[in-house]
Amino acid sequence: MAALLDLDNFTVELLTPRGWVRPVNEVSLRLDEGEALGLVGESGCGKTMLSLGLMALAPHGARRAGRAWLEISQNGISGRMNLAGLMPEEMRKLRGREIAMIFQEPMTALDPVMRIGAQIEEAIRAHEPSLTRAEIRRRAIESLERASVPEPAQRARQFPHQLSGGLRQRAMIAMALAMRPRVLIADEPTTALDVTVQKQILELLMRLRDELHLTLLFITHDLGVAGQIANRIAVMYAGRIVETGPTHEVLTNPRHPYTEGLLRAAPRLQRGKLVPIPGAVPRLDELPPGCAFAPRCPYHRAECDAAVPDLRLASPEHRARCILVA
Ligand code: SF4
Repeated sequence: MAALLDLDNFTVELLTPRGWVRPVNEVSLRLDEGEALGLVGESGCGKTMLSLGLMALAPHGARRAGRAWLEISQNGISGRMNLAGLMPEEMRKLRGREIAMIFQEPMTALDPVMRIGAQIEEAIRAHEPSLTRAEIRRRAIESLERASVPEPAQRARQFPHQLSGGLRQRAMIAMALAMRPRVLIADEPTTALDVTVQKQILELLMRLRDELHLTLLFITHDLGVAGQIANRIAVMYAGRIVETGPTHEVLTNPRHPYTEGLLRAAPRLQRGKLVPIPGAVPRLDELPPGCAFAPRCPYHRAECDAAVPDLRLASPEHRARCILVA
């Protein structure tokens, strides 16, 4: 299957008072057309910075390096572009049309003083300025309908604060999908919602993925949620991918001690007592010399500190960045 998004040593660097740090460190990943990849890790592991880096929305002054190839198809012309090398203006043309993003808390992404419908219309107008007002309005309402927003014409006239959390997230999804992008990045889209609404949003994303042939990068700190929606899982720690493989293999036979720890701490996957991973994600300017997980790892031994381990093959499609993988 063709890769729609193909990351090759993709890196994002930020300048801090103690020098440059890498919240995203030489990440190589591919998203095949139509698949859902779950990107999992605790807060501060680099998941969100990876997505912001791809969308050219990383904080001012951030440096991007490596390659992030996106297959594009516009006006009958197809090819691939390296997102890491695009200027903001070039990226603006692709955002929404080829690749779009939804966020954890729609209130921060939606304009609080603008009606929902007007915000979706603005996104459509930016890409299709030749459409009439009526046509743009019709497409905005269709987008809300596609995202299962009840009474879409009426909701389009409301402001974000007049909608429930679940409806706001649906409105965000409608806005992201208004231009029918092929790749959707969903950054913790269910974390701020209660369990019932979470389930509805996950079901909606799965339905839209099938209906619109979307390729989905689903970011979450919860392996249980990733297990419900993703075909493959990539686990991120301290800016690097530490394990990647088919969902079933990663959940039933994790090969990196960090993934093991995430599984023991996942409420949806653990029937017994939840066991949090001891310690905390290291500061990026204080990473240990070898394996970044070493200070928290129950299997740590001296050789783990010699160098950052490579991603080793555990099975034909399953890799882990740990010296224990033979
Ligand atoms: S390389 Fe060593 S410290 Fe790192 S995860 Fe593997 S066993 Fe633990």
